[in-house]
Amino acid sequence: MHDTRYTMKLTFKYPVYPTKTQEITLLSWLDHLCELQNSARHDRKVAWETEGERVSINDQQKKLKVAREKYADFRQVPQDMQICTLERTDKAFEGFYRRCEKGTGKKGYPRHRKRIKSLTWKLRKYTKVVRRKTKDADKQTIRVRQNPIRETAWKHDRLKVPKLGEVKIYMHRSLQGDPKEVTLVKKASGWYAHITCELPDTPKVEPTTAIAVDVGTTHYLTTSEGQKEDNPRWYRKAEGLLHKHNQTMARRKKGSKRWYKAVHASALHQERTANKRKDFIGKLVYKLFHHYENNVLVAEDLSVSNMVQNKHLSKSISDASWAKFFQWAGNIAERDGFHFHQVDPKNTSQICSSCGKKSPKKLSLAIRTFDCSFCGTILDRDHNAARNILYKAAAAFRGERWVTTLYETRNKNEATKISGLETAKQLRLFDDLLTSPSL
Ligand SMILES: [Zn+2]
Repeated sequence: MHDTRYTMKLTFKYPVYPTKTQEITLLSWLDHLCELQNSARHDRKVAWETEGERVSINDQQKKLKVAREKYADFRQVPQDMQICTLERTDKAFEGFYRRCEKGTGKKGYPRHRKRIKSLTWKLRKYTKVVRRKTKDADKQTIRVRQNPIRETAWKHDRLKVPKLGEVKIYMHRSLQGDPKEVTLVKKASGWYAHITCELPDTPKVEPTTAIAVDVGTTHYLTTSEGQKEDNPRWYRKAEGLLHKHNQTMARRKKGSKRWYKAVHASALHQERTANKRKDFIGKLVYKLFHHYENNVLVAEDLSVSNMVQNKHLSKSISDASWAKFFQWAGNIAERDGFHFHQVDPKNTSQICSSCGKKSPKKLSLAIRTFDCSFCGTILDRDHNAARNILYKAAAAFRGERWVTTLYETRNKNEATKISGLETAKQLRLFDDLLTSPSL
């Protein structure tokens, strides 16, 4: 048990129900921490802009200590939360300093915040004495982290919040692993606790069956086996409703009671839409891995594509949703021990997936079928692209360069001739993956 590495992090989310008084305290803490974050930012900003100096987190923690001794309002807020706020600022600035050193692209100065919506604290470890029953007078001490949850007989357990006491939490599922930190988040629909736990890494399974997906606008995605996933219907509807909410907001007097009502309604709508999207994406990734029984998922890397494709996309919102999809695919692959890879999408829609020859003239997005003039293959455009993505990944696995013109380079062995063979297993694409040094 000792050499188990706890490196995978999972966050469990639960609704919490603070009382009216508890909520008032929490909101005042949010204001305080926002101010603290902004002043920590200002402190670093002044040092950077006047002398080009970096402020370390230790300096700021010392200042916090002084402030806590001096001012009563600093003492009312838990120190653990203040430290986490300073750490968050530190992390933002570390990224900024790093980007400055690189000197390329945007530096992205950490922004001044009008308000923050979450407070985080780390769970402390304490020493626990364990008596051994068998040996006499042999006391053993172990370091354990305090459990943030007090269990009750019914489902509404209690979450221990420093300086506040216990807050009702709805434990609809149990925690796994070692809880490390808790974040309380204020959303339009209420408060939520995000409990981050550390778990041992899931060992990677042997890659045997692979599937590739091509994302698009007409269909949400097309797999390399020709299955299509429709864009969910709530999509457009949600956009229209958002516009309506914004109109209502614009009509009402800013700062009035009715205006706040409209702001809340809009925020609630956005949260629900985000929830729907998360639900859709999560289920889709699960389906690709578990229901279709694949353990390798390959997708295109949209960040490297030179946005030419994106120019034609009707809505940027769907673009963001794909980024989320790729992120989830990566996370779920890590959690369940699967593989997720992204490849450069260059030319994937212009090349015949059967013979590997490039279409002589550029296919525009309006042409939905790929009709190869060399070998006569007729395939759906997205299906063809998805297959190309799969072959591209397979070539990368074997350590080959993906050559787009030569049929022979891509099909060295007679056994991997593509005629009639479609899945990765049949193609033996991942045979020598396990022996490759990169994995
Ligand atoms: Zn062809």
